[in-house]
Amino acid sequence: QRQFSSTLFSDDDFTLSEKIGQGEYGHVYSSTCSNPRLLHKYSALKEIKLPLRHSKTGKIVPVRLQEFSEIRLLPHLHNEKAARHNILQHLGIQYNPAQYIRIVIELMPGGSLLDALKTIGKSRIKTLDLQRYARQICSALLYLKHFRILHRDIAARNVLLDVSLNNAKLGDFGLAVTIAEMEGKESTAAREIETVLKKKVAVKWTAPESLEKRVYSFSSEMWSFGILLWEMWSYGRVPYRKIYVENVLEQIHRGVRCELPVSTDPACILPAHVHELLQRNSLWSLDPSARPTIETVDKIFKRY
Ligand code: ATP
Repeated sequence: QRQFSSTLFSDDDFTLSEKIGQGEYGHVYSSTCSNPRLLHKYSALKEIKLPLRHSKTGKIVPVRLQEFSEIRLLPHLHNEKAARHNILQHLGIQYNPAQYIRIVIELMPGGSLLDALKTIGKSRIKTLDLQRYARQICSALLYLKHFRILHRDIAARNVLLDVSLNNAKLGDFGLAVTIAEMEGKESTAAREIETVLKKKVAVKWTAPESLEKRVYSFSSEMWSFGILLWEMWSYGRVPYRKIYVENVLEQIHRGVRCELPVSTDPACILPAHVHELLQRNSLWSLDPSARPTIETVDKIFKRY
């Protein structure tokens, strides 16, 4: 079983600068750090308000830090290699047992890829940039696969950009699990946290077999990666915009998939190799084993 090992910071180590985002369980702040143990002077603090947990009798019980995927899993990836592989760096936690847990993460001043696609869009983000982001996220997914970790929430809202908008990193590990946890070989923390936080599954990003049988695998990650590619080339549109969430699964079984984006700007056009991936017999194949693996997709993107 993996041991918990995350740098613990105190309340006075950080000065909050501004609110930069809204998470599901609290705000995200940019901050400056005065503790020399942290080499990053500027970082982001993702706050999770406490107490979150009610026992069966309705009593509030303490939350164990291990229950948070981001705290349980990310410290194991926290090294220069993970950063080179485009995974948002976990720098530590700040824990105030009565009020909050703050996860200290690398600050990405470019914000989320989804926001950038919608606001900056085609004026600055071209196909060449999107291909680079795709390669970078492939690298993150390969690295996670090496550690047998499933992210389970791959989406443009969870990809963050640096200040130059050249580097994309995969963040928000709130739903991540290891394969061993999934198979019940390791702690039940992952399952507990799902019920404690009642994490919402993003239906339009989730593979059909995961929606139906709660089966997650490296192949279901590839379905979501396909939706992420679609979000990129459609510049932040909502997938299956005209379909209600509750009808998505049925429509997928009928063969409906996201309509492929067309662009009049040649610099923003969907490339043929991405077009091929976003098909019913490729990343969006009903049969998980028929989907290309991350290794294959990585090779495809490296060619361009
Ligand atoms: P959701 O469930 O909607 O994905 P969440 O609770 O998991 O939300 P995040 O997605 O991690 O929270 O963060 C919410 C927003 O805060 C992001 O969309 C982004 O705009 C901003 N944000 C998060 N982390 C960072 C970061 N490291 N640097 C800069 N901005 C960030």
